Amino acid sequence: MHELSIATSIVDIVAESAAAYPGARVREVRLRVGVLAAVVEDSLQFCWEVVTEDTVLAGSRLVVRVLPVILHCAGCGTDSALDGIQSFRCPCCGEPASDLLQGRELEIEAIEVEEPELGAGMKAEEA
Ligand SMILES: [Zn+2]
Repeated sequence: MHELSIATSIVDIVAESAAAYPGARVREVRLRVGVLAAVVEDSLQFCWEVVTEDTVLAGSRLVVRVLPVILHCAGCGTDSALDGIQSFRCPCCGEPASDLLQGRELEIEAIEVEEPELGAGMKAEEA
């Protein structure tokens, strides 16, 4: 499954980054995914729970931000976001646009880590 290998590689990358903070737990991972990366978010969310089990990412939230396709039209010079991926024509002048500026991304935008020291410090302050 496509999504399983994606989830696995994201977990690997995040776990490696989180290793810099011993004892820390990952709370949230934010992804930027282009429409053309063909990721099914439901499947990815399902795989996420399975793959993060018994890692520092266990119980973390996966937030997927879907990016629309943005085309650059050499004909009229317009950059346009497309609503769908049925047509790759410039909505402005109707020419087939060859320059894809955005839409194939699959990258980690942000990782939110919870450091245990912080929680302990806050509790000590309250007491
Ligand atoms: Zn155009």
